[in-house]
Amino acid sequence: MEKEAVIYACKEHVEMAIDDFVNTAEAAPQIIKVQNERCSYCEEKAEYEIKG
Ligand SMILES: [Zn+2]
Repeated sequence: MEKEAVIYACKEHVEMAIDDFVNTAEAAPQIIKVQNERCSYCEEKAEYEIKG
């Protein structure tokens, strides 16, 4: 079964988010520019959505 993990990341946390995604999903993520979302790691505005 495939997990549908979606992580939002600011510029500072995007590398962490990619690492977490790869560790969890064991697949290369899509990295999509987003607006109006909050980083999953801090309270900053998210710049990217990392998902499978
Ligand atoms: Zn952040």
